[in-house]
Amino acid sequence: MAVPGTMGRIVRVDLATQKLTVETPSDDVYLKYLGGYGIGAHYLYNEQKPGVDPLGPESLLGVFTGVLTGTPGISTNRYTVVAKSPKTGTWGDANSGGEFGPAMKHAGFDGVLFSGISDKPVYLLLKDGKARLLPADDWWGKDSVYIDAQVKELYGSKARACCIGPAGERMSLLACVINDRGRAAGRSGLGAVMGSKRLKAIVCVGDAEITMALPEAMKQYCADVKKKMRQADLVKFLNQYGTAGLTAGACASGDTPIKNWAGAPEDFPTAAKISDEAVIAIQKKKYACWRCPIGCGGETEVTTGDMPSHTHKPEYETLGAFGTMCLNDCLESINLCNQICNESGLDTISTGCTVAFAIECYERGILTKEDTGGLELTWGNGKAIVEVTRQIAEGTGFGGRVLGDGAKRAAERIGKGAA
Ligand code: SF4
Repeated sequence: MAVPGTMGRIVRVDLATQKLTVETPSDDVYLKYLGGYGIGAHYLYNEQKPGVDPLGPESLLGVFTGVLTGTPGISTNRYTVVAKSPKTGTWGDANSGGEFGPAMKHAGFDGVLFSGISDKPVYLLLKDGKARLLPADDWWGKDSVYIDAQVKELYGSKARACCIGPAGERMSLLACVINDRGRAAGRSGLGAVMGSKRLKAIVCVGDAEITMALPEAMKQYCADVKKKMRQADLVKFLNQYGTAGLTAGACASGDTPIKNWAGAPEDFPTAAKISDEAVIAIQKKKYACWRCPIGCGGETEVTTGDMPSHTHKPEYETLGAFGTMCLNDCLESINLCNQICNESGLDTISTGCTVAFAIECYERGILTKEDTGGLELTWGNGKAIVEVTRQIAEGTGFGGRVLGDGAKRAAERIGKGAA
């Protein structure tokens, strides 16, 4: 019997040969490393050769659930993606909530370890304890919202997927892994690793039960904790505003980076325009990840003006990266940047911070209007921030050519003391 809480199944996928091998890690591995980040570190530490190219065939990519993921616990919804980061050349991990993590467990698997590079675009289907690789030619070039809709059409409304968008396919070092149309395993450029393997998505279908060691005790424990959570001010706050509620306060206290890390709170006195009540004013619907009583998420929509958008509510970090870092108090532009990133599979933190870096270069005369193809990258220019973000997402123009792999690569490309 598998260690309680786990499915006892990890699938190895060699994308070069298309060979799939299902294995049961020893109890010792589960008990020592539990899941997620821990078990990912275990596999990469033991199996990844030193010095490999993160975007090359010897690079390993792991997608792992946690030991509590998918169980009747509280907020038990996360999964972790691990690989050598192509951005930093060292350990890379990123995790995401939503519904994909539990779906992987309910499909009968604790995780997947990919190696090699596929000749053609593929996706991995995990269904009722079985794993298959299927062609993804028709999905290549498509965004995360399209993939989500296709997966539900093909496999039913309960099917869930994590995927890359066009940014990951192009191996942009800003690329992330997206699930549920806008929950992101954002950091470390791991969408580029997935793209390098021509792996478009992992689709999970199934309703396998997860065995618990002490189900009644866990039920009681969760009921007690939930009762306390309902009374906690922080939970009430996050339920009402999400992390977006933190923006103005964190900016005023100097906790949030401002003006490409060089500013102070007085440089951005209008932070309230991209925080708490202002964000809630464009929230159309609340959203909670799987079995999360905090329910900090939402869907935001802008229908008026020249920057319409509809996506997941921007997090504090997104509001910081495209807002305080760029001295941009135009919430409509930030929501649209968030939508562009969610759809094309870009990490909003790295993308917004790279845009802030480009703005500082422009303001200091290191970049000119000629360099940017006519874009006026000035502090707080919401329209230009949207346009350059779109270029990064599409891999076109100045944004795609210069900024598409983050601030460090951009500084190297720009030269002239940009670093
Ligand atoms: S709803 Fe918010 S608090 Fe709950 S798991 Fe998702 S991101 Fe975390």
